[in-house]
Amino acid sequence: MKLSTSPIAAIATAPGRGGIGVVRASGKSLHELIATLFPGTKLTPRHATYIPFKAANGDVIDEGLALYFPGPHSYTGEDVLELQGHGGPIVLQMLLSRVLEAGAALDLRLAEPGEFTRRAFLNDKLDLAQAEAVADLIDASTEAAAKSASQSLSGAFSQVVHKLVDQTTNLRMLVEATLDFPEEEIDFLEKSNARGQLAVIIESLENVFRQAAQGALLREGLNVVLVGQPNVGKSSLLNALAGADVAIVTPIAGTTRDKVTETIQIEGIPLNIIDTAGIRTDEGIDVVERIGIERTWGEVGKADVILHLLDAGLGPSAADEDIVKAFPQGVPVVRVWNKIDLSGHKESIDVSADATHLYLSAHEKTGIGLLRAELLRIAGWQQTGESLYLARERHLIALRAAREHLDLARQHAAQDDQSLDLFAEELRLAQDQLSSITGRFTPDDLLGVIFSRFCIGK
Ligand code: GDP
Ligand code: ZN
Repeated sequence: MKLSTSPIAAIATAPGRGGIGVVRASGKSLHELIATLFPGTKLTPRHATYIPFKAANGDVIDEGLALYFPGPHSYTGEDVLELQGHGGPIVLQMLLSRVLEAGAALDLRLAEPGEFTRRAFLNDKLDLAQAEAVADLIDASTEAAAKSASQSLSGAFSQVVHKLVDQTTNLRMLVEATLDFPEEEIDFLEKSNARGQLAVIIESLENVFRQAAQGALLREGLNVVLVGQPNVGKSSLLNALAGADVAIVTPIAGTTRDKVTETIQIEGIPLNIIDTAGIRTDEGIDVVERIGIERTWGEVGKADVILHLLDAGLGPSAADEDIVKAFPQGVPVVRVWNKIDLSGHKESIDVSADATHLYLSAHEKTGIGLLRAELLRIAGWQQTGESLYLARERHLIALRAAREHLDLARQHAAQDDQSLDLFAEELRLAQDQLSSITGRFTPDDLLGVIFSRFCIGK
């Protein structure tokens, strides 16, 4: 979608009632708009002016603060006007309508989702990874995720990516310069220590990838599905996991009545736990119940890990055998034997060939630490203490692809079979992949997809 460059406006604060609410406008020049909205008043740049917001007929809609940020020193890099009024949905809608009407002669229109941030990107106020971090910071569901998003927003992630691009480019230019002098090719790799330079780049790329992959965990979290017969202790286990040192965070949108989805966090990693209250496999259930069960199995399909709860005293029932058969292939399953306070087992974990068996008591809260550690292990979480980048899947894919091209480059630089032009070509491909992260070579349609996921007003 090609968006016009005419000025835009939108309500920038979240829908609903709030102490204050903000209407924001951005455009190449907002002088006329300001003159129409506030006749006879001059807004001092970057200073708050307390002022009535009036309708065209002079009626006062609200009063509040007007803030004017002349471009390029603004969020979008254009002129930006912010009107802070009271945060009621109706009053903000009236204020927005007034702004749109006052800007009609300038072609002022309602902003598309993410369009303010998109303009900030197009005007080089932010690169693409930073623009994505804006959305991720707003959507962060744990403190650790927010911290990493803010790290990416500050440009720390972009900087390490830029550094990799620069190192790769320098090496490639060195190689390409040599291509014009075939008699020197043979010694070139030795003399310039090209292999050594490449090894250094690959090592830094691996570090960045690890920090990004860990950060991605903070963003995506882990989908955990709890299955087991009624009364085996699923709800109790959920509560125990969510206990004292684990904060309950927002429930996931789209939670239906048939399943309970709760997001808890362990060491900052969101765990989306789906309690599949009483999956039954027996015949003779009604249609409504069947739909509920089918939906539950749909959730099981999206699981990163399945916790299959069993009664340590009773052992598996016939229904449990059926459930196990229906588990999707390839998803790790932990058999959690509950109620060891009744059965007399000790808390323990046993990773045997067929499955992981974990003995605990949800009620007595023994063995819960073992389960938390096992979930973190399955998630691939390593506590390194280094700062993480709240990377997206897109970033990880690009980093991985860059890594593959660098590996190919290494092969073309091998002692016995060296081919400098292929070496240079692989470096160029790696460089393109890395650049796509910060947006230097990102196609328009991908930009459209990225920004359309923002809300209006961002
Ligand atoms: P759900 O139907 O699978 O969600 O099971 P609940 O969590 O509702 O638990 C069913 C019953 O088992 C409740 O009375 C719990 O107090 C009890 N229960 C759960 N875990 C334990 C445990 O570890 N030990 C004992 N003794 N009772 C438990
Ligand atoms: Zn329950």
